[in-house]
Amino acid sequence: MTTWWCENAWLPPGRVVSRVLITVADGRITGVDPDVEPPSTVQRLAGLVLPGLANTHSHAFHRALRARAQGGRGDFWTWRNQMYSVAARLDPQNYLALAQAAYAEMALAGITCVGEFHYVHHQAGGVPYSDPNAMGAALIEAAAQVGVRLTLLDTCYLAGGIGEPLSPVQQRFADGDAAGWTARVSEVAGAAQVRIGAALHSVRAVPADQLGEVADWARTRAVPLHFHLSEQRAENDACVESYGVTPTMLLANSGVLGAGSVGVHATHVTADDIALLASTSTGVCLCPTTERDLADGIGPAGALAAAGVSLSVGSDGQSVVDLFEDARGIELDERLASRVRGTFAAGTLLDAATVAGHRALGWPDAGQLAVGMRADLVAVDLTSRRTAGGGATAETVIFAASASDVTDVVVDGGVVVKDRQHVRIGDVGAALALAIDTVTG
Ligand SMILES: [Zn+2]
Repeated sequence: MTTWWCENAWLPPGRVVSRVLITVADGRITGVDPDVEPPSTVQRLAGLVLPGLANTHSHAFHRALRARAQGGRGDFWTWRNQMYSVAARLDPQNYLALAQAAYAEMALAGITCVGEFHYVHHQAGGVPYSDPNAMGAALIEAAAQVGVRLTLLDTCYLAGGIGEPLSPVQQRFADGDAAGWTARVSEVAGAAQVRIGAALHSVRAVPADQLGEVADWARTRAVPLHFHLSEQRAENDACVESYGVTPTMLLANSGVLGAGSVGVHATHVTADDIALLASTSTGVCLCPTTERDLADGIGPAGALAAAGVSLSVGSDGQSVVDLFEDARGIELDERLASRVRGTFAAGTLLDAATVAGHRALGWPDAGQLAVGMRADLVAVDLTSRRTAGGGATAETVIFAASASDVTDVVVDGGVVVKDRQHVRIGDVGAALALAIDTVTG
């Protein structure tokens, strides 16, 4: 049994409580006792202690693009070409190093669980490795070394666009057809702190007649099913032209929507699409820092929330790894679009980054500081030059803190970050620089 005394803690259903003693056994919270004087023998966590943050949408290798793909003029599609040049250089060894460094940065930011949307499966030209899941295994190993939980969202990717063949670099993403994907993914070896989920890259990359088989695989196993959704208007236009319906409607008609399903971005969905997402209990993961970086547009977060769609957040393209920034981006982007302040309360945004994200990744027993939940603790400094004076409130965390204000991180009862240092990886900056050098030349 271990105990932590928290100067302040964010407890369900959404309140800050002072002087909270949290007791942990076998990685689970067994006691949450407020208003306790700090016993001399326990570990103390200063500031405001949150439950673990869930990064619901990540592509680990995109970390190599930060500051390298921000210059110049272009759009999502020109950025994609830059991204493909990194994807072409990955192998299981350099991907392990890159993902380990990227996940370590996430751990330092208070992320205790990563949803990795993984589609770089094979060697160049689409030739499988001797272990066809060697790339997924590298991601699983990276998360284990860093000490964060992982939901490997193994992604089906079959086409270069609607009715278009794969480009040379895309060939390594593809399994031929949905049956090839299910055969391979069914052999992915799990591990402690790992769940295997499914993903459809998008309606661009998976033909309509292949969607149902992937959805069935996920439904049968009751695992998460994620998909990029209407990130770009060009995707909507191509879908309507080819199938006569929006991407959301196409996915609905193919049995993809439902509880356990999560659309990523949903930037350019229609009012009918939003009603469809809500009525099927499909969630949406928003990635505001990526959407602004890629000039995607501003999604209808307020309308999605008003319809009852569960929202989560992801760092996606890794231009920023700071879920406080992504969470506040939901509200601040909504302000720009609506010219109204306060659509999302800070506590609601904290829920999106914690409990809703964990649920979207298949961990309903994480993301809250409550008895029976996984013992993830994230301490946020309230005395930094960013947070000082704000007080122990959700507003200080969401509207003032940055990832640099995370001081300590506990995952499943184990200490992963202490005093702003990753306890196993050490110099995360050096690990990132080395790993990125290797894949960018
Ligand atoms: Zn993505």
